[in-house]
Amino acid sequence: MNIASVIVDVPAKQTDREFDYKIPEKWRNVIIPGMRVIVPFGPRKVQGFVSGVKDHSEFDKLKEIIEPMDLEPVLNEELLRLGNWLTEETLCYKISAYQVMLPAALKAKYEKHLRLSDDIDKNELPVSIQELFKHKDTVEWNDVLASSSPAHIQSEAVKGNVEVIYQVKNKLNKKRLKFIKPVMDTAALESYRDSLPQNAAGQKRVCGFFIEHESEISLKALLEETGVSAQTVKSLVQKKVLEEREREVYRDPFKDRSFEATVPFTLTEEQNEALMPLLDSIHSHRDDTFLLYGITGSGKTEIYLQAIDSVLKEGKEAIMLVPEISLTPQMVQRFKGRFGNEVAVLHSGLSAGEKYDEWRKIQRREVKVVVGARSAVFAPFENLGIIIIDEEHESSYKQEENPRYHARDVAIKRSEFHGCPVVLGSATPSLESFARAQKNVYRLLTLRNRLNHSVLPSVDIVDMREELRSGNRSMFSKKLFEKIKDRLDKNEQIVLFLNRRGHSSFVMCRDCGNVMNCPHCDISLTYHRHSNQLKCHYCGFETAMPTHCPECQSDYIRFFGTGTQKVEDELGKILPEARVIRMDVDTTGRKGSHEKLLNAFQEGKADILLGTQMIAKGLDFPNITLVGVLTADTMLHLPDFRASEKTFQLLTQVSGRAGRHELPGEVVIQTYTPEHYSIELSGEQDFDSFYQHEMLLRKMNKYPPYYYLALVNVSHEDLLKAVSVTEKITKFLGTGLGSGAAVLGPAASPISRMNDRYRYQCLIKYKREPQLKKMLKKVLDHYQKETAQDGLQISIDLNPYMLM
Ligand code: ADP
Ligand code: ZN
Ligand code: ZN
Repeated sequence: MNIASVIVDVPAKQTDREFDYKIPEKWRNVIIPGMRVIVPFGPRKVQGFVSGVKDHSEFDKLKEIIEPMDLEPVLNEELLRLGNWLTEETLCYKISAYQVMLPAALKAKYEKHLRLSDDIDKNELPVSIQELFKHKDTVEWNDVLASSSPAHIQSEAVKGNVEVIYQVKNKLNKKRLKFIKPVMDTAALESYRDSLPQNAAGQKRVCGFFIEHESEISLKALLEETGVSAQTVKSLVQKKVLEEREREVYRDPFKDRSFEATVPFTLTEEQNEALMPLLDSIHSHRDDTFLLYGITGSGKTEIYLQAIDSVLKEGKEAIMLVPEISLTPQMVQRFKGRFGNEVAVLHSGLSAGEKYDEWRKIQRREVKVVVGARSAVFAPFENLGIIIIDEEHESSYKQEENPRYHARDVAIKRSEFHGCPVVLGSATPSLESFARAQKNVYRLLTLRNRLNHSVLPSVDIVDMREELRSGNRSMFSKKLFEKIKDRLDKNEQIVLFLNRRGHSSFVMCRDCGNVMNCPHCDISLTYHRHSNQLKCHYCGFETAMPTHCPECQSDYIRFFGTGTQKVEDELGKILPEARVIRMDVDTTGRKGSHEKLLNAFQEGKADILLGTQMIAKGLDFPNITLVGVLTADTMLHLPDFRASEKTFQLLTQVSGRAGRHELPGEVVIQTYTPEHYSIELSGEQDFDSFYQHEMLLRKMNKYPPYYYLALVNVSHEDLLKAVSVTEKITKFLGTGLGSGAAVLGPAASPISRMNDRYRYQCLIKYKREPQLKKMLKKVLDHYQKETAQDGLQISIDLNPYMLM
């Protein structure tokens, strides 16, 4: 095995394959698949991943690997395979697929050292290692590379006796603290204490502490506990009564919190019925996918906890995915409270160093559960017993850059390897998942009742057209205004939700609520200010901006959009006594500000929490008794076939914020289209009817889950170039694909110009096209030169969620 196949870190078509390199004599059997190496590549030195080792190469003149970057693989066999699968599924480069699975710290520039692990006695190590560490605890990486016995070093690394430390520009320094423990046993310690002179009170106290506790403690804590000086401890160390050792402590983002231990609830009958099939799959190692469909507050999380508990008892590991915005301390508490230090948390609020720490805990088998956002699906566990995806309908599970993967697909792929179940949980499942459950591809588990006998809040839908007719031009309906005043009087709290997203500007008649839709695609047309036109971003249809509403002839037809700032200003005018906290991208930019604002609200420092999407989830405050949705329509008319689905999900989620505890909750939804099924049915919290209705429309208009989609997005500084390339691609796909596929385009993207680049797209709807991926790959290959040199960009999304 003296040849390594290497995927080099040069993301381009020509280099997207394995290159063979000779493994230098001394690194034989040390360099193994999953490790990173430095290799010569043309005139450069580049990083690469070893994807395999072998005895023969079809090439004669092989260059040698310069040096390894790891002593242990950073990707195991399963993840290497998963990377290849990702490459095929998302049409990304192999190098991108491997890199997306690793924490960012491993991609950055860093220095490396080899260090003796904590607790290791040098004298027990092989002589060659003792030599290496003579007079020191850490060894420069260059000395490791120069060592005559790398195999010894590696086997010690595998045993955990030495480890590689990465230091990224000093930021990643692992935090180390001094720890103290007694050298002698309790009896010896006691007699030593008694032999101390009367005036050595401090030393006596320290001895007393260890007689009682016997265990190791950080120097800092010891000083606090005993109230002695560091000098006192030092003298005991010098006298070989105690010993001191530096030890790594992880930068734990939740370290300053205490997590109260919780115990499992006795499950309700309904919960129990949902848990049983899960446990069965866990114990019989079946890779079933479950859809746990349960209304908000029905006890889904408790089921996750108990399923994970059972997985841990089997000696296996668990991945728990939650959307980034739900990764609140409240959420983390529930997992740490149950599983304590077995839990690692991965979320975007962590620094690169902190993320790396969490990742290493997983790799070193120090934890058995990871709770995290999308990328935690790649957690390097080797013995998975369950993967859970909470709020599975959330679009944040889809990565919107290369590789464009969906965490759900990755989870299911990994579960096949591990023979373990996947659980998708939601109160408002995605249509795709619910349809699969209906067809028994997924197994459906249902929770219909809320716990604590709390009832779902009552929902009022207010017709804003009526308000306008009765002369109210404010953004608050009479009803909402009165209810806000009422809560202010009662000292109860209010959440005001402004549904605003994207750059879309759809056009709506304020008198009748009519929205201008594409006659061919059944999505809203987008207003283009410069040409004063309305355009469809799926098929390219264009029409002039009407001066009168085609339905009712009113000339009060406008494009639509309001900001949180504007709402805050208006609140200040009409309810000056109300204390308002505003949460949007402007007020939550800095790290930790999100949490600070929420805490302030929880502590009752404000009456009204005003915000966008980010307040829709996870809020669970007892004093919220009113939720107001200012404009339910904004998302409804995004140029996206999922607009109704997203609106329904969001309104249901927001409504779920009210009345979760003793006080009953009320919800007011303001809308210009109260008759729209997604608004009407979210008011009744009727997912089942919504599902029926929406499925019919999807079928009629050939959208998922009946059809698959693929989106090709082309951008260039030159408009003509963008259009002509898109045109050619559209033609190529149109003639090559079967008659069952629809190839739409070229059409301007909803965001038709971004960073001075024109954006065009081609949308493919299909049911079965075995050739599609090959053809799309051909498209990428064909334009490779132009994308490398001429600034042309082509991105392909095989399961698009952002149609912008
Ligand atoms: P969901 O995840 O479906 O929104 P949760 O698991 O958060 O629901 O449960 C809602 C509330 O009910 C939580 O406060 C939880 O602690 C509590 N709970 C869950 N299961 C039980 C049970 N079997 N008995 C009593 N309380 C429970
Ligand atoms: Zn009208
Ligand atoms: Zn159209």
